[in-house]
Amino acid sequence: MDAGSIPATSTKLMMIYTLPEMIRTLGRLLVKLTIALTTIIFLSATCVSYSVQASDYQSNYEKIPAVNKMPPRVANWAYTPTIVVCEYAPITDVQIQSAIAFWKNLGHRFFISQYNYDPHNKCNDPNPDRYIVIHLVADGIEMETSSLAETRFFVNNDTNKIEWAKIYMREDIRETVLEHELGHALGYLHYNKNKHLMNSKWTQGGWETDGLRK
Ligand SMILES: [Zn+2]
Repeated sequence: MDAGSIPATSTKLMMIYTLPEMIRTLGRLLVKLTIALTTIIFLSATCVSYSVQASDYQSNYEKIPAVNKMPPRVANWAYTPTIVVCEYAPITDVQIQSAIAFWKNLGHRFFISQYNYDPHNKCNDPNPDRYIVIHLVADGIEMETSSLAETRFFVNNDTNKIEWAKIYMREDIRETVLEHELGHALGYLHYNKNKHLMNSKWTQGGWETDGLRK
């Protein structure tokens, strides 16, 4: 044995000593690596959700109604309603069919529609159960001069279901007004998002249907 064998032995001993130590170190490294990887995955998930949020809040204007994300809907119908367009109502058959198709596309259902045909005299019924009745604004109907139309709907407070609705239209019907009023008849209230169908101001409204799908 030469002098060099001692360090060799000690190296060997050290090696024996270090091997489990290395395994432990490797183990710790693996744990650290796992934590690091998890953190990366977590961060990327965070980044993803941030980018989603970024697109949800495109402008300060949209951030405000995000608190109230949906147009409020007070109630559902008790039955699938029938629509009656009364005599003198200032809308054509094509207009009502188009408005019905609009709401059907959003998943709403109507039993049938009757154009200038009212065998059950629902146009003169004060409580036309199961019907949405469309009238021309007539004498005796109080309506603000700035209003283009008005819808009155009756909710049964015991069942919280809509039982009937009446829509009063002015002569000069404008785009989106009939669809907007049918929205009220279906129980939707105003939702003042720009370009939205249920915007209370016609000039700021439009064809956007967020929250109107059944
Ligand atoms: Zn309205």
